[in-house]
Amino acid sequence: MLPLAIINLAEKFRTLPGIGNRSSQKMALDVLQSSDEDFANLIIAMHDARHNVRFCNRCGFFAEAELCNICSNNHRSKTQICIVEKPTEVITLEKSEIYNGSYHVLKKLISPLDNVFAENTTVGKMIDNINELILDNKDVELILFLKPGFANEATTAYIKEILKNKNWLNRVSITRLAQGLPLYYNSDTLDTATMVRALTDRREI
Ligand SMILES: [Zn+2]
Repeated sequence: MLPLAIINLAEKFRTLPGIGNRSSQKMALDVLQSSDEDFANLIIAMHDARHNVRFCNRCGFFAEAELCNICSNNHRSKTQICIVEKPTEVITLEKSEIYNGSYHVLKKLISPLDNVFAENTTVGKMIDNINELILDNKDVELILFLKPGFANEATTAYIKEILKNKNWLNRVSITRLAQGLPLYYNSDTLDTATMVRALTDRREI
């Protein structure tokens, strides 16, 4: 019924996660019915986001400059570092509005069974960042915000082993978010109250 060009456009939107058949068709039709100016601005915004956004040199979150807005904010603690797997999980934690530290995005969790090793993650960069803080005579708290499972355990064990080998255990503490996060939680829909409780009740491991 619809012209092929609309179907094609809808199919392109459909490739985005979380966009179903109905939404993708609606997006395609909305784009077609927008004014020339709105359409031009949409294309420019997509192009700019694609070309100007990269990953923060320090923490791995989305950035437009060398450092992201969080790392370049002097009011945020540099010694409290929340470790997450994906940059989108930073957004989840930021929504809780109670965390005022920094982040480190691992990109992947270590999972030897899946052929993911430390060098496939950004753990090395994290260690470099911690090293700088320690040379600066600072104590560091790492807060693990990783989904439960084998890869979480393997990653945690690896980080602890490195801290031990570097003799940093008296300078770096590791805390884990309090029990109570559902096993297969979706960090995008985790409610703020649960997250605030998990963050304030975190335990040292
Ligand atoms: Zn950053």
